[in-house]
Amino acid sequence: MMPRPFKPSEVEQFFSRFAAANPNPRSELEYKNPYTLLVAVVLSAQATDKGVNKATARIFPKIDSAEKMLGFGEDNLREAIRTIGLYRNKAKNVIALSKVLAEKHSGEVPKDREQLEQLPGVGRKTANVVLNVAFGLPTIAVDTHIFRVANRTGLAPGKTPREVEDALEKIVPDKFKLHAHHWLILHGRYVCIARKPNCPSCFVADLCRYQPKTPPAGADADSERKLIRAARRVRS
Ligand code: SF4
Repeated sequence: MMPRPFKPSEVEQFFSRFAAANPNPRSELEYKNPYTLLVAVVLSAQATDKGVNKATARIFPKIDSAEKMLGFGEDNLREAIRTIGLYRNKAKNVIALSKVLAEKHSGEVPKDREQLEQLPGVGRKTANVVLNVAFGLPTIAVDTHIFRVANRTGLAPGKTPREVEDALEKIVPDKFKLHAHHWLILHGRYVCIARKPNCPSCFVADLCRYQPKTPPAGADADSERKLIRAARRVRS
């Protein structure tokens, strides 16, 4: 059954709480400029930000432009990022996108979704992150965390990341759009986690439609004890 849709006043409350708790959320990916951000986001597919930061710390101090990356070369890059999943393919894409940036965009990262999406290894999600983080545009990139939070809470349900993105685009008030992406990602990463959401510590629990909520640790133990006692009674 579809959860009861959020009323505009509830959406306002939902995001006001994130804004009060974390007025200026930041990407957890390390970067120096739009180019290094683009590379970091491409490397982050199916990898943790922590793992990506560890690898890019080896290259970004010296390699921070498309031109320098082309001079560094695919073999060196592959070696430097071999701790990240899918590193062979990612190294190939980073070199290919650096070539396109050098040849078609004077080495600059374009501030344009269509042009970004034409770069090798760059899809809608990566383009949205770059537009939001590097250029301050109010885009919402839907990754696995946002997809889960939007569906679980009932805030912006959708069967595909694009459906969720469109739903968020429609309901998130303009004043919250710039930071909505990071608020929802961080919430999904640290509170509304995939395996067992931490509902007792969640400051939007009263607005969230997810049921049944994860009980507090004590309550968890209590109900577990009751179940064990009931099972013993049945056996005896
Ligand atoms: S109440 Fe639970 S399910 Fe709902 S957003 Fe918070 S952590 Fe996620």
